[in-house]
Amino acid sequence: MALIVQKYGGTSVGSIEKIKAVAERVIETHNEGNQMVVVLSAMAGQTDGLINMAKEIDPNPDSRELDVLMSTGEQVSVALFAITLKSMGHDACSLLGFQAAIHTDELYGKARIHDIAVDRITENLDAGRIVIVAGFQGLNARGDITTLGRGGSDTTAVALAAVLNADVCEILTDVDGVYTTDPNICRKAKKMDFISYDEMLEMASMGAKVLEIRSVEFAKKFNVPIHVRSTFTKERGTMVVAETKDMEKVAVSGVAYNKNEARITIRQVPDQPGVASRIFDPVFKAGILVDMIVQNTSQDGFTDLTFTVPKGDFYQAMKLVSDVGKDVGAETVLGDENIAKVSIIGVGMRVHAGIAKKMFAALAEKSINILMISTSEIKISCIIEDKYTELAVRVLHDTFGLDQEHAKEENF
Ligand code: ASP
Ligand code: MG
Repeated sequence: MALIVQKYGGTSVGSIEKIKAVAERVIETHNEGNQMVVVLSAMAGQTDGLINMAKEIDPNPDSRELDVLMSTGEQVSVALFAITLKSMGHDACSLLGFQAAIHTDELYGKARIHDIAVDRITENLDAGRIVIVAGFQGLNARGDITTLGRGGSDTTAVALAAVLNADVCEILTDVDGVYTTDPNICRKAKKMDFISYDEMLEMASMGAKVLEIRSVEFAKKFNVPIHVRSTFTKERGTMVVAETKDMEKVAVSGVAYNKNEARITIRQVPDQPGVASRIFDPVFKAGILVDMIVQNTSQDGFTDLTFTVPKGDFYQAMKLVSDVGKDVGAETVLGDENIAKVSIIGVGMRVHAGIAKKMFAALAEKSINILMISTSEIKISCIIEDKYTELAVRVLHDTFGLDQEHAKEENF
């Protein structure tokens, strides 16, 4: 007998019809002799709808009350689901975040889970019930409802799988797994059988929006195997797991891109201790997430600094940096919104040399100019003009043979 945590997203439970279909699937897995904990999101569109109502009253609604409001979406879906299972003759029990004893910190809207007291869940499982837990919500030390941040039901599911020591955490969604790149851009994209936590973190942060990033961090920390698969078929999807030796055989396992960044350059900054700190201070204080930072070697005591910020923060960042640029005596501040980041990702990069060269050559071959480069142990990213994004993704996917069945040993 296995203990399986399954999480269904909003589109999977988006209507009564869909709830019934999901219930049948859960019953089938339960009947195969498994204990089941089912985590649900709110029905598709509900969370947005609730937020919009609050914003009609106040564009910046009180965060405590907003959590009380947002958490009702999941309350509806778990109740309907339990009613459905019971109407089909199965014993089930819905639990809201506080009933499942999901304790979080104080931070409304982006709370982190501290601990979960599993007694109530295990008692119900032992009684043979299917346990349905509301995703996305918890309880803080004050006894208030908190929410975990958008997409947080994934984290609820992984956290439950960790504390219950489940055999697997299945994330059932409207795609059938994690792909080597975005299939909307590259028709040759292939579903991966396995991907390591670290690679998944890179893919996810790059906009491969299958799993919420925090859930992957959680899974990595507690070594919870995640199975990303389709709600609508029984086919195996992608296993997100700890790294194995085998994974290093393939140098590059995926290509990701992000069109959501903009670039800012400060020219001719006096090259003195403390200057970078002064320039970035107002940017960080404004809560703007800076991604790549490149500083040139200085010439005659001056240097150029270039970095990227999310597009949504571009104008604010330009204003802040222009102001501080004047203060530190920089020459000019230039901005460019028409950029994109393409990245190749793979744990095998640690053991294979020459990957960067191959990437740069492939882009050069298509006359795509590289504006910035950054590397980590398992990733190489290039900033390019955004109009070349799709071309770059396809070329890199081809170059590293990601469409090949046996890309494994051969992609370098
Ligand atoms: N319902 C929440 C949201 O829309 C949580 C989730 O779906 O995971 O963000
Ligand atoms: Mg989601």
